[in-house]
Amino acid sequence: MSREQRIVTCGGPQDSHAFDGIPVRPRRGNLDKLCPVCAGHGEWNREVDLVSQRSKRSFCDKCDGRGWIETGDDLVRNPPAGPALCGR
Ligand SMILES: [Zn+2]
Repeated sequence: MSREQRIVTCGGPQDSHAFDGIPVRPRRGNLDKLCPVCAGHGEWNREVDLVSQRSKRSFCDKCDGRGWIETGDDLVRNPPAGPALCGR
């Protein structure tokens, strides 16, 4: 009879529970720095149940969920038909 839930809603990545259970992504390729929006997590919780730790997550638009961004001038091109990047 105890289906306890304690849902916390997060307004964005600045929320204190926004990154619960989400690790910082390892740096890949030549991306330059941690995403300032998601702090390297690539996503954040929109809703977390503090009891079961289940969550609904949003991907970060700024870094496309990679957690890292390119800051130099060297990566403004988007190859239209480049080799497929494997990975997640
Ligand atoms: Zn991000």
